[in-house]
Amino acid sequence: MSSITTQPSAPAPLVALTEDEVLFRDTVRQFAQESIQPHVKEMDEKGVFEQALIRQFFELGLMGIEIPEQYGGGGGTFFEAILAVEELSAVDASAGVVVDVQNTLVNNALMRWTTDDQKKRHLPRMCADTVGAYALSEAGSGSDAFALQCRAELKGDEYVLNGQKMWITNGKEAGVFILLATVDPSAGYKGITAFIVEKDFPGFTVGKKEDKLGIRASSTCELIMEDCRVPKANLLGEVGKGYKIAIETLNEGRIGIGAQMIGLARGAWEHAVKYAQERKQFGKAIAEFQGIQFQIAQMATEIEAARMLLYNCARMKDAGMNFVKEAAMTKLYCSQVAERVASLCVEIYGGYGFTKDYPVEKYFRDSKIGKIYEGTSNMQLMTIAKLVMGK
Ligand SMILES: Cc1cc2nc3c(=O)[nH]c(=O)nc-3n(C[C@H](O)[C@H](O)[C@H](O)COP(=O)(O)OP(=O)(O)OC[C@H]3O[C@@H](n4cnc5c(N)ncnc54)[C@H](O)[C@@H]3O)c2cc1C
Repeated sequence: MSSITTQPSAPAPLVALTEDEVLFRDTVRQFAQESIQPHVKEMDEKGVFEQALIRQFFELGLMGIEIPEQYGGGGGTFFEAILAVEELSAVDASAGVVVDVQNTLVNNALMRWTTDDQKKRHLPRMCADTVGAYALSEAGSGSDAFALQCRAELKGDEYVLNGQKMWITNGKEAGVFILLATVDPSAGYKGITAFIVEKDFPGFTVGKKEDKLGIRASSTCELIMEDCRVPKANLLGEVGKGYKIAIETLNEGRIGIGAQMIGLARGAWEHAVKYAQERKQFGKAIAEFQGIQFQIAQMATEIEAARMLLYNCARMKDAGMNFVKEAAMTKLYCSQVAERVASLCVEIYGGYGFTKDYPVEKYFRDSKIGKIYEGTSNMQLMTIAKLVMGK
């Protein structure tokens, strides 16, 4: 006899959002369309993010979504942070990653591993006016992140940092950096320690800004530490436990990249659908050809499937469940969908799609980063394989 499991109330479908979430999403959507859209082309061309927009991110509460209200934050959920990144990225993936790094990496690390005193010092300004960056990668250590060389030596009441970081998102705008260095290279990953480094600490310099294929407005910078003095009070978590902070923060960050990619895919798709309805060939709109309709339908299906993976994973995080496998799957799949969709959208625009006069080529360029940062696709596949094969 088969058993029936009854539940007091049926679980909500993944597409269901609360009233507050709908309101929040729609507010961010409207802001992105009205306030960010007019700057997108110029920011991409110049490779510079509009400072006034960052101020507006703070004013709208987008830079401290989950930070508790007592510190000036929104006291919201991780899911809301994901909705914000999705909506911003539908208009501009660079705007999406500014807010993503702040919330899913920096604020998350600060909320989770700081002492009460550090919370009081750092959380209010992350909500008010300070951009954060997350500095793990170096020239010689990317996928093999724990091979990092940046050195931290305790001298009296200060750690003295020497070394370089590379590829640091928000590097140009940030006032605070969560920076990983080793206190003991012979201890391997167990020497890795996290620090809260301030931009104006002596010996700290933001170096070269990369000239990139995509997300050009998002700054990606080198950091240079030459006898950079960091007070002991700016140690984040325990000495030698930086590897744990790095792994766990990036698990959450990956969901944010999934949101960036899904927003991007939707943005490109919306442009392509509109264009297909306007562009006439053979005497009718190309959207009337079944070949184009099928492409639009296929893309919509893939975006929906990827979004459900994303929303489920974000809800798992908010529910306190283990989401490591799902986060890797989310980032892997959302970035694949984004690249496929953005590429097909360029084709739907035909030759026009290949020019900078139309928006889709930028979506295509921006999509590429999803498979690279916060762990390449191969790294996500390694995590998934390990977890599904029980190794
Ligand atoms: C725009 C941008 C923004 C970034 N922002 C940040 C940031 O804010 N903070 C930060 O710390 N870092 C940041 N990064 C760095 C990013 O996380 C790394 O570039 C990424 O992890 C890959 O490292 P890598 O570039 O050294 O490539 P590598 O590790 O050299 O990988 C090269 C290739 O080899 C493959 N590979 C490597 N090892 C294996 C393996 N064991 N099995 C199979 N394949 C393998 C990879 O999948 C990849 O295809 C950013 C990078 C970019 C481009």
